[in-house]
Amino acid sequence: MSTQEFQRNRDNFCYRHPDRQSFVLCQRCLRTICPECQTQGAVGVICPECLRDQQKAQSPAQKKAERRWSRPRAVSASAGRPIVTYSIIAITAFVFLLTLIPGGFGGAVQDALYYWAPLLYPEFRGTSQPWRLLTVALVHSGIWHVGLNMLALWMIGRSLEPLLGRGRFLTLYLLSALGGSVAVTLLSFTTPVVGASGAIFGLFGALLVIGRHIGANIAGIALVLGINLVIGFIPGFNVSWQAHVGGLVVGLLVAFIYTRTRAVRQRGLQIGLLVAVGAGLVALLFVPVFFPALIIL
Ligand SMILES: [Zn+2]
Ligand SMILES: [Zn+2]
Repeated sequence: MSTQEFQRNRDNFCYRHPDRQSFVLCQRCLRTICPECQTQGAVGVICPECLRDQQKAQSPAQKKAERRWSRPRAVSASAGRPIVTYSIIAITAFVFLLTLIPGGFGGAVQDALYYWAPLLYPEFRGTSQPWRLLTVALVHSGIWHVGLNMLALWMIGRSLEPLLGRGRFLTLYLLSALGGSVAVTLLSFTTPVVGASGAIFGLFGALLVIGRHIGANIAGIALVLGINLVIGFIPGFNVSWQAHVGGLVVGLLVAFIYTRTRAVRQRGLQIGLLVAVGAGLVALLFVPVFFPALIIL
């Protein structure tokens, strides 16, 4: 889809602000609304027109109760807030602090969460610890490593999460993290890795597909990722370019699915394609078992 085609597809833009791209729909009328037009409803978000209709339909007693017990303005302001982004940053920072605890505890946390492909396969190590495919994104090799990754996550998540919606943003992050681990498995089997870089590069890939339509600060984000890449070449950091490539490819793919399955009637197709991406990545993890000659140690 070219930029012009994309611009012509009105489904991709807020019905009240035709210049603002968004992937979030009003749960009541199913029209596209930008972060500013979203108000958190009981299920999902609703648009200002539906909010007005809903309030009109309320009885005077209901209205009084709502005035007393809720603050619609505050709720409205939080609807576009990147809660998933902030949560991932908080959890990752918390785990990083845990790994700093001396006396063996910090080291034990790191040992339990980092990714090393042989630990996935009973054939190699007599044990299978699949959680490492994702928990690798929680552990980092130092303050600069975690700092740069979280800075990039904050820069991208702030604009991408309100645009995609929380569920799609989280799915993108997790599939990209998985993509990074799968790429390490196939391209650098014996290298132990830590870091959220695969997931972050996935977000960046998605921004390249989606963000060029919304004018996000791609240059600034590219600079942070560039520094991140350079750090990857410093020995002892356990950051692998293989994870970056894997995350980036998955991010591009997932964002492409999002842009092509925008309509309400395509929701089932979108979920099906995302499940297929996840299943495809898991299937690739069987390559070392059935075709060990293909993997790069
Ligand atoms: Zn509506
Ligand atoms: Zn709007």
